[in-house]
Amino acid sequence: MSESTRVGIGYDIHRLVEGRKLVLGGVEIPFEKGLLGHSDSDVLTHAICDALLGAAALGDIGAHFPDTDPRWAGASSLDFLAHAVELITEHGYSIANVDATVLAERPKLRPYIQAMRESLAAVLRIDVDQVNVKAKTNEELESIGRGEAMAAQAIALLITR
Ligand code: MG
Repeated sequence: MSESTRVGIGYDIHRLVEGRKLVLGGVEIPFEKGLLGHSDSDVLTHAICDALLGAAALGDIGAHFPDTDPRWAGASSLDFLAHAVELITEHGYSIANVDATVLAERPKLRPYIQAMRESLAAVLRIDVDQVNVKAKTNEELESIGRGEAMAAQAIALLITR
């Protein structure tokens, strides 16, 4: 097969609730709330998983890691990401780059961006300069702006060898 490129997008949203750790890109961030869900609910890592699976036409995170499967209860989303990387590698793809945006009103995420990039790059098995993470507030609008949820968007470019 000649070399070609494949692009995929990912999106995710989780509710913010008390009594949960906040984990983004595999990095635990000190905050009074965390994201609700079956796994650690790392919304950023979930969006990146979907971007990778999407680019390879391998379905979505819900198909590979159903929240009805007790194996994944309380799982680290980095395990999902590592599995997604294995799948795309088996299908002959390598990652050119990943870009992502986290939508969160609070806390300020800038101090944690570099740690998130490093954490993600290690699991994606690429260099840190192939992973970008951006953070935006929602300008106090809607559920994210009211601090009821966080969302993430991601895009991934894959190369076939
Ligand atoms: Mg999710």
